[in-house]
Amino acid sequence: MSTKITFWSGLDTIGANIISLEKNGFQLITDLGAYVGADIDALLDRNLTSDLYEAGLLPPMNGLYPEEQVKDLPLESFEQSDLKTAICLSHLHLDHLGSFGQISSEVPVYTLNQGANFYQNLKQHKLLPLYDVNWQGMESGVMFEHGPFKITFHESDHDTIGAAAIFIEAPDLKLVYSGDLRLSGFAPEKVLQWAAKAKEFQPDILLLEGTTFSSSGEDSEIEDPFADRTETWDLLSERALISRLDNLLTASDELIVFNGYPQNIERLVKLAELANKNNRQIVFDPAYYELAKPFVENTSIEVLKLNADITIESINQHPEKYIVQVEYENRQILSELKPGIYVHSNGMPIGPYMPEFAPFFEKVLELGYEVIFANVSGHAHQADLLMVAYAIQAKIVVPWHTFKPVAFGEALNEYGISTFLPEKKKEYTVSDIIK
Ligand SMILES: [Zn+2]
Ligand SMILES: [Zn+2]
Repeated sequence: MSTKITFWSGLDTIGANIISLEKNGFQLITDLGAYVGADIDALLDRNLTSDLYEAGLLPPMNGLYPEEQVKDLPLESFEQSDLKTAICLSHLHLDHLGSFGQISSEVPVYTLNQGANFYQNLKQHKLLPLYDVNWQGMESGVMFEHGPFKITFHESDHDTIGAAAIFIEAPDLKLVYSGDLRLSGFAPEKVLQWAAKAKEFQPDILLLEGTTFSSSGEDSEIEDPFADRTETWDLLSERALISRLDNLLTASDELIVFNGYPQNIERLVKLAELANKNNRQIVFDPAYYELAKPFVENTSIEVLKLNADITIESINQHPEKYIVQVEYENRQILSELKPGIYVHSNGMPIGPYMPEFAPFFEKVLELGYEVIFANVSGHAHQADLLMVAYAIQAKIVVPWHTFKPVAFGEALNEYGISTFLPEKKKEYTVSDIIK
C-alpha cells in the first residue's frame, strides 16, 4: 500500500499548515496549529470539540481526538481507531501547536529537546497554554521510527527556541518539512546545515514555508496610524537590530524601555549583553527573568529581576543607567517609570490589526515616551527561500504557509524548481504529486 498524504490546512494562509501521512495503520501528523479564525481559548476547551469541528476549525482526522469529545461526530476516536497516531512538531508557535488542547493526551508529540524544555518553561510562566499531550523530546540529527516512518529532526533557525526542519522517510516517499525558518537570525548556519543534509537525503517533496511572499505584488497592509509620531526601523536581520540598539545606547542618556517577544529569548539575552557593555543594568519582568535564566546562567551576563533585585523607585533615581524590559500584561509600569525611549520590538500588541494596538500606543505617547518600532522578521527573505529550495533540489516543492502560494510557486518556477499546489483535504500518493 502506498503512503497516503493529506493536506488539511495552511495552503494559502500563514500557519496551521497540517499534513497527515498514513501507511500500514500508522498515521504521522506534522504540526497541529490553530486554524485561522479559531480562538486560542476555545481550542483549550474540550467541551467545544463539536462546535469547532462543525465550524471547520479542526482537522477532521481519525485516531486523534478522545472518544468522549467526538462520540457524536463522524470521526473515529483515538480509542476506537486502529490507526496509531503520532505528531511531529516543528516549533512552539500557536499556528503550529494551537490545536493540541483538543487531542488525546496519549498521542505522542515529538519535538526537539530544546523546544520541549522551553515549552515547560513558557507554560510555567503562562506564556503558552497548558497542553496535556505526551511530550517527547528528541535529539537533533537522531532518527527514530513510528511504524514504517523514519523521522529525523534537524535544528533550524526561527524566532523561537528549538525550531526544527523534519525529514520523513517511508518506503515509497521521502519528504522534508521546512517548518518556519530564516537566514537572518542568530544562527543561520543551522538552516544551511539542514539544507545541505536535505540535499543528500534527496527528497521527493519539500514543504516550504513562504510567509514573506504574502507581501508580494499589490498589498493590503494596514497603515500605521502612528507613522508621523513615531520612528520605525525595519531591519533585515537580528544582528542589524543589535547594532542599531548599540548606537541608541551609546547616544542616549535616558531610560530605555524594551518590549520584545518572549519566545525570541535570544534577542533579549543579546540585549542584556549589550546593556552590560554600555554600562547599563537590564531589568526583566519576573516571568521573563525566569525564562531567560537558563540562557544567562554560567555566562558573564547580568540581569536584574524587577521588584526582587531592584524597585521602580531606584530606577527612577538614575533612569539613564537602565534598560527595562516591559510586556503588555505589565504595561502599568510605563506610567510608574520616568518616561524615556520606548522600543517596541515584535512584542505585544504586534501590529495595527490588533484592537489593543491603537489605544496602547496612544497611552505610551501620552505618557511622554519617544516610540521606536524596531522589527525583525522571524521569516526568511524571499530570495533566501528561493536559495534554500534551489540548494535542496527536491523533486517537487509545495509552497505553503503564505497568503500567496501562487506567487511563491511562480518565483520558484522561475528558479527552475517544480512546484505542486495541493487541494485541501484530498488524499494523494507520491505518484499523484510527482508525475
Ligand atoms: Zn508559522
Ligand atoms: Zn513560527
